Amino acid sequence: MTSRQQQERLRKAGRIRSFQYENPSPCDHCCERNKTCLIMPSGEGKCAECERRGRPCVSSSWVALDRAGDNLSSKIAEDEGRVERLLDELDEVRRRLVRNRKVQEQNNKKASDKWECLVRETAESGEPAQFEDFAATDFGFQLEGVPSPFQFGGFANFSGTETGVAGSS
Ligand SMILES: [Zn+2]
Ligand SMILES: [Zn+2]
Repeated sequence: MTSRQQQERLRKAGRIRSFQYENPSPCDHCCERNKTCLIMPSGEGKCAECERRGRPCVSSSWVALDRAGDNLSSKIAEDEGRVERLLDELDEVRRRLVRNRKVQEQNNKKASDKWECLVRETAESGEPAQFEDFAATDFGFQLEGVPSPFQFGGFANFSGTETGVAGSS
C-alpha cells in the first residue's frame, strides 16, 4: 500500500465525513465497534470508517445472518452428537483396556507358573534344557530363507538384472 493510495483514502473519508450523513443501517464494522457509520448522502460507496481503513464495507442482511445461524446450529448439533458418540466409544475402549490388562496379567501369571513348573520337572528328571534346544531350532529355521531387507536391497541395486534373486528365473 503506497502512501499515495493512503492519502487518497483519507481524502475520500474526509469528504464522506463532511456531509455528516448517518447510515440508517450501520455497516458491520461500525456496528461492532460502536462507531457512527457516516456515508455519502447518495448512499454510494463505503462508509467513512471503512474507506479510511481501506477495508470492505459490508452490511450483513438479516436473511444472511439467519441462514448463517441455521447453518451453525445444525453443525453444532451434529458435533454435539458426535462428541457424545465418541465419549461413549471412549468409555467402551477404556473398559475393554482395563479388562484386557487384567486378563493379560492373569495370562502372564499362568505362563510364568507353567514355566516354573517345567523348570522344576526338568530339574527333577535330570534332563536339562530339552526345551531350550527346541527354541533354538525354531529360531534358526525362521531366519533361514528369509533374507533381511538389507540383503534384499543390496541385491537389487547391485546386479541390475535379477539373476540370482530367488524366484526370478
Ligand atoms: Zn460504517
Ligand atoms: Zn463500513
